[in-house]
Amino acid sequence: MLEERKNFIPLNESFVCENCKQKVPKAKGTFRNHCPFCLYSRHVDETLPGDRKSTCGSLMQPIKVEKDSKREWMVIHQCQKCQKISRNRTAADDDREELAKINLTIR
Ligand SMILES: [Zn+2]
Ligand SMILES: [Zn+2]
Repeated sequence: MLEERKNFIPLNESFVCENCKQKVPKAKGTFRNHCPFCLYSRHVDETLPGDRKSTCGSLMQPIKVEKDSKREWMVIHQCQKCQKISRNRTAADDDREELAKINLTIR
């Protein structure tokens, strides 16, 4: 159990998005798990947000936006390599137009 907790590291650091190549600054007040410009994520977590246990590391495409039970917007990501699905809360600085576009381009 202690091992589990040690590995819980919220992902909050600046990085360059592998999809749109823009520099992403640190998030304020929350931790960042996807790019605010194109909304792509990376498959780094296996079971818990921030656990960094996945060895996949591939880009995760935003496939859907929906409201959760608290009426907060969630982005559903799907890994382009292993097809894993994950749900992530949107951040305040996520691009609203990009968010709106996701549901229009559902395959
Ligand atoms: Zn991006
Ligand atoms: Zn994956």
